[in-house]
Amino acid sequence: MNKKIELSANALTVLERRYLKKDKGKVTEKPEDMFKRVAQNISEAELRYGKEDSEVEKIANDFYELMTKLDFLPNSPTLMNAGNELQQLAACFVLPVEDSMESIFETIKHAALIHKSGGGTGFSFSRLRPQRDRVLTTGGVASGPISFMKVFNAATEAVKQGGTRRGANMGILRVDHPDILEFIKIKEDNKELTNFNLSVGITEAFMEAVEKGETYELINPRNGEVVKQLMAKEVFDLLIDSSWKSGEPGIIFLDRMNETNPTPKIGEIESTNPCGEQPLLPYEACNLGSINLANFVNKGKLDYKHLRTAIKLSVRFLDNVIDMGQYPLQQITDIVQANRKIGLGVMGFADSLIKLGIPYNSEGAVTFAEEIMGFIQQETKVASEELAQERGSFPNFEMSVYPGKGMKGLRNATTTTIAPTGTISIIAGVSSGIEPLFAVCYKRNILDNDELLEVHPLFEELAKNRGFYSEGLMEEIAEKGTVRGIKGIPIDIQQLFVTAHDISPQWHVQIQAAFQKYTDNAVSKTVNFHNEATREDIKEVFMLSYKLKCKGVTVYRDGSRDNQVLTKGDVK
Ligand code: UDP
Repeated sequence: MNKKIELSANALTVLERRYLKKDKGKVTEKPEDMFKRVAQNISEAELRYGKEDSEVEKIANDFYELMTKLDFLPNSPTLMNAGNELQQLAACFVLPVEDSMESIFETIKHAALIHKSGGGTGFSFSRLRPQRDRVLTTGGVASGPISFMKVFNAATEAVKQGGTRRGANMGILRVDHPDILEFIKIKEDNKELTNFNLSVGITEAFMEAVEKGETYELINPRNGEVVKQLMAKEVFDLLIDSSWKSGEPGIIFLDRMNETNPTPKIGEIESTNPCGEQPLLPYEACNLGSINLANFVNKGKLDYKHLRTAIKLSVRFLDNVIDMGQYPLQQITDIVQANRKIGLGVMGFADSLIKLGIPYNSEGAVTFAEEIMGFIQQETKVASEELAQERGSFPNFEMSVYPGKGMKGLRNATTTTIAPTGTISIIAGVSSGIEPLFAVCYKRNILDNDELLEVHPLFEELAKNRGFYSEGLMEEIAEKGTVRGIKGIPIDIQQLFVTAHDISPQWHVQIQAAFQKYTDNAVSKTVNFHNEATREDIKEVFMLSYKLKCKGVTVYRDGSRDNQVLTKGDVK
């Protein structure tokens, strides 16, 4: 384990800020030491399954190689905490919120503990009685889910300072909850619920009512009484209006998530993690990891043999993470051990397309997305079956849907998830998750007044090879935020280096759907719109994602949020 690793300046900055060990503020760990720490710690799980020390050492070496070649990286909490005091390795959690003061405030405490360790939490607030409903013990009136969400938000804000990273929350409310209208509009005020992503839990009954122009029922979760009837289309339009104005709330298709719930006898899925890619049962956690697809394209071809080996090793790594992880609550440990969910996904998808010469907004990209994810899905199942033979199936296997499908054994209730890879893609130096490039050239502010011009490495290489590289041209691209329509750039290159805003929303959804088709859990994806996009455009995308069987959708219209995190010419 002494191979040196080549990292970009951006990657080093990120690692130094949060990932490498520090002593009194001074970094005491090199990136190589970090990967060594992680590889050794995660390989220790092998001892539980009777492996000899020498075999464990070999596996640690394999893990080290896998990560230092940047073929695969686990989610940030694993990199930060494996082999350190915290040892909390999972990025995603869902906690239940029951309709009682005890449950609400217990859950706030649990969420704080999870945030402290770098995990994100998702909650459904759908079980809370609505505003102005009766409180039997006091004779008073209930405050409703939204006012309690504000308490969760304040708690997150306070924990933020001391944690390994910013705590993130997902808040879900079912579309048939009586407080749904207020929930839909809450984020139009951008000072509200700043530590939350919000999604409306959409049901099939609601979508049918939208399509047929009918009403649907709002139900009080405390007693099951129908409180009101609303026109589904009007609520849908309101949702679209809010998404158009502020990008929130997103939507998740609840029934669809439950159709693919591998353990319906254990519980119902009512929420996802903060970025929406991981539906989980109450108290469940999941650790994620991503294969860097760009690394597997050589000389214009995808190396499936190499990819197969990397997938197998990654599945083993993620299964080990479950055993090595320490969770802040016994309930979490119990269900995580019983279902053993893992989520292997990809990053560098857009970069791999560029290396293959396929524009992101093309049928070719959709076909490639299905092919590659189909392969990953299949190989993770093979790897998980092999692990089941070696280590036993996940304890809830007999109660899961798999025996009914003729499967004899599986180590993990789920194996695939497409994460955003917000940070690990920076470490790997590739495009994030399955998103298109955000920019080809951009200016980054360094120190006070200095600007650094960053050029996408694949673009720079091509531009130099094809003889059209010049500083002036790169500056022009950075100014415009696109290579489209710039004189001096060959047409095929203009088509290949498309950025998020050059791509029509329909292509964004089609790529998301292609990945979803072969992903057990869900897919993190933002559908980008120009500032001029209309409400009708957003509606079309919501309907398309429903039709193409996505599990949810998040839209973002450029400039619709004041505190936009990413803008042209400025990346985090
Ligand atoms: N997450 C979080 N806080 C953050 C970023 C991420 O809690 O600041 C959680 C959240 O559940 C998200 C998941 O980590 O859905 C995966 O995010 P991402 O892939 O961007 O994480 P990375 O491993 O790249 O840091």
